[in-house]
Amino acid sequence: MNTRKKIVAGNWKMNNSIDQSVSLVKDVVDRVGDVHAVDIIVAPVFTALKSVSDNVGESFVQIAGQDFYWEESGAFTGEISPLMLKDAGCKWVIIGHSERRQFFAETDETVNKKTVCALSHGLKPIVCVGETLEERENEETSKVLSRQIRNGLSGIETDHVKDLVIAYEPIWAIGTGKTATPEMAQSAHAHIRAEVADLFGDTIAGGTRILYGGSVKPGNAEELFGMDDIDGGLIGGASLKASDFCAIISAALDEN
Ligand code: PEP
Repeated sequence: MNTRKKIVAGNWKMNNSIDQSVSLVKDVVDRVGDVHAVDIIVAPVFTALKSVSDNVGESFVQIAGQDFYWEESGAFTGEISPLMLKDAGCKWVIIGHSERRQFFAETDETVNKKTVCALSHGLKPIVCVGETLEERENEETSKVLSRQIRNGLSGIETDHVKDLVIAYEPIWAIGTGKTATPEMAQSAHAHIRAEVADLFGDTIAGGTRILYGGSVKPGNAEELFGMDDIDGGLIGGASLKASDFCAIISAALDEN
C-alpha cells in the first residue's frame, strides 16, 4: 500500500453552459460532502471557470483548465494564459489531452513548453500520455509512453515534479466504452513510473501520482484504482453525471 493521495478528476470537455456547469458542481459538492482523503478536480469549459470556482467556494473541489498557452499575455488570439486560469480560480491544468494532440496539433514539444510554464506559474499540470490502437497492436506502447514522458517532462526542475500529475489515457479507450484491463493499465503505469524514476530518481517517482483515463465508470473504477500504480482517474463521459462521478469518487475513497 502506498501513501499517494488518490485523485478523481472530471474532464467536462466542450460540454455544459455556465448554468449547467454550476448546477453540476453543486450537485457533486452536495453528494460527496466534505472529502479530503481524495483530491477532487473538475475541468469546465473556459467560460464557466469563474462561476464554477465561485460556487465551490472553500469546499474541497478544485478547478482545472482544459488547456492554455505558455505566454502570460499578448497578441495570441483565441488563447488563454496561465495567469488568466489562476485568476478564474484554477489550481490545475490538463496538458496534452489526446483530443488536443489529435485535433489541435499538440506535440510533445508544446506539451513540454506548457508543463514547464504551468509549473513556473504555480499551476499543477495533469500531463496526458497514451498510445493509439495501432501503436498498441504493433506492440509500441512502451516506446510511445517513454517518448511522451521523456519529451514532455524534459527540463523540469526536480523540485517541481511533486506538483505534477501524469494521466495515462490509451486513446483507443477514450469515449469508446473500451477500458484497458486493470492489468494492462497497471503495466503501462509501472512503465511510466520507471521512466519518471530514470529521469528524477526513485523517491520522486514513488511520490508521483499517475491517473488512468479511458471509459472509467462506477462499475470498473474500484478494480482499476486497486492496482499498485494507479492513483485515481481522469474521467470524461462519466464526470458529466454527478451520480456517476460521485460513485467513482467513492471507489477511490474505498481504495485509499
Ligand atoms: C478523457 O477524455 O479524458 C476520458 C478519459 O474520457 P472518457 O472517460 O469518456 O473515456
